[in-house]
Amino acid sequence: MPLPLGHVAIGVAIHSCVRKTESGAVSWQELLFIAVLATLPDIDVIIGLLSVGNGAAFHRGPTHSLLFAIAAALLASRAWKLGIAIPKVSFLWSFLLVISHVAADAVLTDSPVSFFWPLEVNWSGGHSGWTDVIASVSLGAYRDAGIVLGSGLLIASSELLRHRMPPTQWGMPEMGAPNSLQKTRTSEPAQEEP
Ligand SMILES: [Zn+2]
Repeated sequence: MPLPLGHVAIGVAIHSCVRKTESGAVSWQELLFIAVLATLPDIDVIIGLLSVGNGAAFHRGPTHSLLFAIAAALLASRAWKLGIAIPKVSFLWSFLLVISHVAADAVLTDSPVSFFWPLEVNWSGGHSGWTDVIASVSLGAYRDAGIVLGSGLLIASSELLRHRMPPTQWGMPEMGAPNSLQKTRTSEPAQEEP
């Protein structure tokens, strides 16, 4: 069962695989943005707790869908235009982080997601109060140990592969960390975000 820890670990692994920067280090700003996007679909738990006192009331609904991932990525990749301290990130980078959450929930749990919402809706059902959610996220985090380990192995494999490839082949096209956060290679000018 991926909890926030597991989703963030998967997000960091995705970032490691698709980033175009030389350094494998993840800054706290990058980690914060990854954490927000990789756990964003579970905002339905907060909405349920705040509105009806039940975190499961709206869980696994619209926020766990392809449409939500596209909408969230569109917003995230344009949020920097607001002029406040929001990093500039690409649509694909953001989309992969959000959809990774939906995919992990779908593959690693028995409870279905609403991938093709509004054509399908699969509410998780049941009841989760504040104490249930807090206990699950904090005390139950050990259950994500396998996901963290798997993500660590993926990051290590990605780093090994990068050392065997020329820098021009790093990452996916139009992909990478936000320009404002990137440590661009000194031998080349910083690339403009599309
Ligand atoms: Zn979820």
